[in-house]
Amino acid sequence: MSAPIILYVEDNIANRELVKRVLEVEGYEVIEAQDGPTGLELAAQRTPDLILMDINLPEMDGYAVTAELRKLTSLDKTPIVALTANVMRGDREKSLLAGCDGYIRKPINIDELPEQIAHFLAGGRETT
Ligand code: MN
Repeated sequence: MSAPIILYVEDNIANRELVKRVLEVEGYEVIEAQDGPTGLELAAQRTPDLILMDINLPEMDGYAVTAELRKLTSLDKTPIVALTANVMRGDREKSLLAGCDGYIRKPINIDELPEQIAHFLAGGRETT
């Protein structure tokens, strides 16, 4: 069985490198996009098993990218997990409305991340 592919859409390079390192140790293949349009292109090309979506992205935010991704039937079974530092009320609802399956709160806790990823890959929803 080949490694599950995780697409991480994130404009912050330090976050991308951290998450890539942690998830590669867990045996995932991590592909990165620094903006929404690149993320859409890679998602269509590679059909990832899970997408980690930063919400605060330049120009096209993570909600808009998620809404576009949800138009692709090839990604029907791909969980999209929002990553957001925004802890205001309504963010949870906004990410779910955009088509996310749940969200992970920033700053990312690298000790919890593998378990959170496994949860969503197994079809779980929500969590923090
Ligand atoms: Mn960002």
